Amino acid sequence: MGTLQRERVALMVRRYKSIYDMKPSSYENAMDLRGNPTTVCPCGCVVWVLKVQFDSDSGDIAMYFLDMECAMCGTRATAPTPIDSMEV
Ligand SMILES: [Zn+2]
Repeated sequence: MGTLQRERVALMVRRYKSIYDMKPSSYENAMDLRGNPTTVCPCGCVVWVLKVQFDSDSGDIAMYFLDMECAMCGTRATAPTPIDSMEV
């Protein structure tokens, strides 16, 4: 984890007391960027809200929906998949 990313995580930890409070206070600046997979929101946040299913044996993430929402600003985007990082 780079220094900038650590600073962002530290900022988010200070800003939110509980994960249940980690949601946008307003969707006024939220965008709809669905279509191209991404890992970073234009607001700089790297934490996303997704719906996931866990493998009951290993506890690993078994499945996740591709629609996700930025935890800071509410922008909608498309989650990356392993095949997205492969070069063609
Ligand atoms: Zn955002």
